[in-house]
Amino acid sequence: MTEAFKAPTRLLMGPGPSNVAPEVLAASAQTTIGHLDPAFQAMMEEVKDLLRYAFQTKNSVTFPISAPASLAMESGLVNVLEPGDTAIIAQNGVFGGRMADIVGRCGATCVLVETEWGKPIDLDKVAEAIKAHPEAKLLGFVHAETSTGAESDAATLAKMAADAGLLSLMDTVTGLGGVPVRVDDWGVDITYSGTQKCLSVPPGLAPFTVSERAIEAVEARKTKVQSWFNDLNLVLGYWKSGGGGGARSYHHTAPVNALYGLHEGLRRLQDEGLEASWARHAAAHEQLAKGLQGLELGFVVDAPYRLPQLNSIWVPDGIDDAETRSKLLTEHGIEIGAGLGPFAGKVWRIGLMGETAREENVSRLLGALSKVLGRGLQAAE
Ligand SMILES: *Cc1c(COP(=O)(O)O)cnc(C)c1O
Repeated sequence: MTEAFKAPTRLLMGPGPSNVAPEVLAASAQTTIGHLDPAFQAMMEEVKDLLRYAFQTKNSVTFPISAPASLAMESGLVNVLEPGDTAIIAQNGVFGGRMADIVGRCGATCVLVETEWGKPIDLDKVAEAIKAHPEAKLLGFVHAETSTGAESDAATLAKMAADAGLLSLMDTVTGLGGVPVRVDDWGVDITYSGTQKCLSVPPGLAPFTVSERAIEAVEARKTKVQSWFNDLNLVLGYWKSGGGGGARSYHHTAPVNALYGLHEGLRRLQDEGLEASWARHAAAHEQLAKGLQGLELGFVVDAPYRLPQLNSIWVPDGIDDAETRSKLLTEHGIEIGAGLGPFAGKVWRIGLMGETAREENVSRLLGALSKVLGRGLQAAE
């Protein structure tokens, strides 16, 4: 018989998943109950409230999609875009490129506004595109670009969209929990995240929140949403709270145990407090930045735009990218991320997300990097 799988112990310092707290794993290991069980439905209502706290929103339509974050990106776009529509997509890394691909698959026209990788989205270029395309229906952008570690000015982008009468769609998969995300203050219409980055919950669920304005756009469609699973009109039949006992209708079987884990992860975030979580990520980043200076390793992103939770570092000349990452993993049990696209082989991505963003983890990584690279740690302590 095949032996049971035994996961090795790792310190997860890549672009996600991040380390998961034992409490979250223990919550998920509880007995499975029916997804229409009243006890489960009561827990789901708490998950929705906890997500509203994390997103800083009062949006009634706030729930976790039963899928990785990529599906939430797809869901946001397929629900509002119809064939013949135009969407402006601001791209400064891998994930904006995916948005553009999905827009095309909706039969919509994509106006792509490109910014150099490693830089925040160029606001002037976006303003020009909005002016040049009064027919556009939506502006899509990535708040926290995980492929580069750059943070864009989400508040301004959302305002530019609203001022021009466009819907805004924001990817904050890597942002949520790690840096301020204020959906209502910023006026974002469609926002999604993932569980495996700064929320420190295993991958596979995608927090999602939608404004009234966006719901109206979905309801005003002339054509059916082309994806059955993603069709918000159908999904909401299940996720809408019954309130005074209104029945939930079956859409798909909710991933019961995964949702126990999300409930616990979000409860831990609420207990710590958003501000404290943001401060913890910032402190871990400062500690890492100091240590990297001692190791003579340089950041890809300019200081004002660095995401504390995703640190892109240039691979030094003469150092083998893959060999270094492999040594960190096999000799020190630490995973860091490789570069994507034009950054492949040139950049390491060090994640300080969620539970990973702690002093002891940063110290352990700096010590391991020093050993693997054979460089001193003069300024790191
Ligand atoms: C990780 C990530 C995604 C995709 O998340 P999955 O859970 O892997 O589907 C999308 N956007 C950004 C910015 C990400 O960092």
